[in-house]
Amino acid sequence: MSLTLPPVDPSVDHEIQAIVAGASTAETCNTDLAAGPWTFDARPGYGPGSSMGDVIPVGAPRQGELPASYREASPEELDARIIAAKTILGDRVVILGHFYQREEVIRHADYVGDSFQLANAALEHPDAEAIVFCGVHFMAETADLLSRPEQSVILPNLAAGCSMADMADIDQVEECWEQLAEIYGDMDAPDADGLVPVIPVTYMNSSAAIKGFVGRHGGIVCTSSNAQTVLEWAFARGRRVLFFPDQHLGRNTAKAMGVPLEHMPMWNPRKPLGGATEAEIEDARVILWHGFCSVHRRFTVDQIDTARAAHPGVRVIVHPECPMAVVDAADESGSTDYIRRAIEAASEPTTFAIGTEVNLVQRLAAANPQHTIFCLDPVVCPCSTMYRIHPGYLAWVLEGLVAGEVRNRITVPQDVADPARVALERMLAAKPPAAPAAAWENAS
Ligand code: SF4
Repeated sequence: MSLTLPPVDPSVDHEIQAIVAGASTAETCNTDLAAGPWTFDARPGYGPGSSMGDVIPVGAPRQGELPASYREASPEELDARIIAAKTILGDRVVILGHFYQREEVIRHADYVGDSFQLANAALEHPDAEAIVFCGVHFMAETADLLSRPEQSVILPNLAAGCSMADMADIDQVEECWEQLAEIYGDMDAPDADGLVPVIPVTYMNSSAAIKGFVGRHGGIVCTSSNAQTVLEWAFARGRRVLFFPDQHLGRNTAKAMGVPLEHMPMWNPRKPLGGATEAEIEDARVILWHGFCSVHRRFTVDQIDTARAAHPGVRVIVHPECPMAVVDAADESGSTDYIRRAIEAASEPTTFAIGTEVNLVQRLAAANPQHTIFCLDPVVCPCSTMYRIHPGYLAWVLEGLVAGEVRNRITVPQDVADPARVALERMLAAKPPAAPAAAWENAS
């Protein structure tokens, strides 16, 4: 049996390498993407890609230097080393790959899905010693929350954070809560209708510390698939919602539920009272944290207009992390799993313009050749932090496990994990998520 895999087909990395070599006329947002991510590990910042302009928090995890034998290995050698290590480890390890991960890593994943699907997929393997999460930091934390204490959750590159999750810092959120309490009074006291002043709701794309905060204050976690159900849950218990970190998911969801925009003030943690007036805070139905995803913020109404002009009849589907004007201009919006299902359900050959991360779009295009599928953003600009998971890191952590060494383990402290699980359990009780089998199980 050969230990190498055939060449990678829908590879964003190959495309970027071709652009840099002058073999493609396409455009990338940063030619540094063609370099190995270890080039950036020693530098503060999110690295090249969609989040390169975002401010990384002081103290964000850094990755130590990857040994030269991995940095200098060819793609074929890395494939062979990953396969060999995986073969030795067998059922002792489960590899999870996020929808937005680069294809060179995804081909080795046992499951491919969104963050919550993958955390659930890990639950199907309670006997696995290690869960290697090829996603970003908050996803590995969530997997640690849901896995057994004996299991190690591994993030192959510690520099793979998430700029959106980092926009809601626990100290800023605590400070916000105190300021709100000065206006609303006792945050635990229900009014005549039995509603407390505010229910905190956090998107899954947040740190475990934020999920723990939410759990301690009667709040709940949501995903992009169940945000409306979760907001309904929150409005049944509270007069208002404090929604973080993604303002766009909060605004798009609440607007679709009929909440007027004037009752959705923004909370900018760098401004007194979030930059809102006391009257705006009192009248609020949803207070939106000033966070966003730098991948989905790249999509514009102009791109949709261009797609419609070039492809009459095109079906435009965007992720709800996109700005409101983009969601309004699209034909549909939905989670990554919604987008995947919508494409697969189309019975006639269709042209789709998709507003989400380019690795997923290119994979969907390759998997559905009966359709024409392209990314709304013509500039090739992957998620900066997902792209930090290179096959070299995957080989490094797997060979570590073979040698009996757990590298890059992600552990959530107990005092954070307990309330964070409460917030997750409330979400599950509000509406059970799709069964774990909904994750894409890799054929390879
Ligand atoms: S796509 Fe956006 S939300 Fe997802 S990991 Fe990247 S920066 Fe974070």
